[in-house]
Amino acid sequence: MKIDKAKCVGCGNCTYVCPMGAIYLDPADHRATIDADACVECYTCYRGMSTEHLYPPLIRGIRKLLSFFRLRFEPEPDVCPTAAFVPDDLQWPRIVRRAFSDPQVPHESTGIHGRGTEEVKTNDVTNRVKQGEAGFVVEFGRPGVGARFYDIQKMTMALARLGVVFEPNNPVTHLMNNPKTGEIRKDILNEKVLSAIVEFKANLTEVPVLLNEIEEVSKQVDTVVSLGVSTRCDENGDNPLEELLQKQGYRFWRGKTNLGMGRALT
Ligand code: SF4
Ligand code: SF4
Repeated sequence: MKIDKAKCVGCGNCTYVCPMGAIYLDPADHRATIDADACVECYTCYRGMSTEHLYPPLIRGIRKLLSFFRLRFEPEPDVCPTAAFVPDDLQWPRIVRRAFSDPQVPHESTGIHGRGTEEVKTNDVTNRVKQGEAGFVVEFGRPGVGARFYDIQKMTMALARLGVVFEPNNPVTHLMNNPKTGEIRKDILNEKVLSAIVEFKANLTEVPVLLNEIEEVSKQVDTVVSLGVSTRCDENGDNPLEELLQKQGYRFWRGKTNLGMGRALT
């Protein structure tokens, strides 16, 4: 994303809408600027703000005149008065940022918007996680924090060494050179995204060792990590995961329960 400096009048409205805090008013020219390294191409600024097409020199003149009287020209807070945002023609590898950060863009690899995965929310139908297995969802980043792929790779390589099977229908898995080693394509390692999800499954007996490893690697990355673990209940609605998690010191919450009303595709 770019800001056309010839159009920007430095009202500062856009600095509040960026979830990554990537827009700032440059003290040198008093116009808005985007820190390209911090920008994750989420398009919130471009799509989220209303635009007016006022004549920039006129607005600057009015702002200057009013400043003599200690008054200010204030456009509505959600408006860019001169439509100064200009989307870049994104190329590889930067385009990866938008794929993971703009919820309106579907991932090429999975056809799913947002982080590009349904996770285990559709497990009734996909049958990804079977009885006796644990499905893991490891989420990296959040608005305001973001995540880089070199940090995500620290986790995927550590997990691969423990022999996990990464979910094939997941965009991060698609970006791996080799899902057996967890190595991610080198050309995207420095790319920053709003958030990304790594998914894999393992035998229930491996849950304690995997939880320990995830906790350990989480301390080595410069982002926030959230973890979800799921399994299939038995015919009585019980599951062995609850006890395993509690033994590891986690409080067990049933975040989501699939009722088994879908028909499995496999
Ligand atoms: S909202 Fe528009 S005019 Fe105002 S600072 Fe941002 S880019 Fe410039
Ligand atoms: S595209 Fe998103 S991250 Fe980039 S400047 Fe706009 S709001 Fe901020």
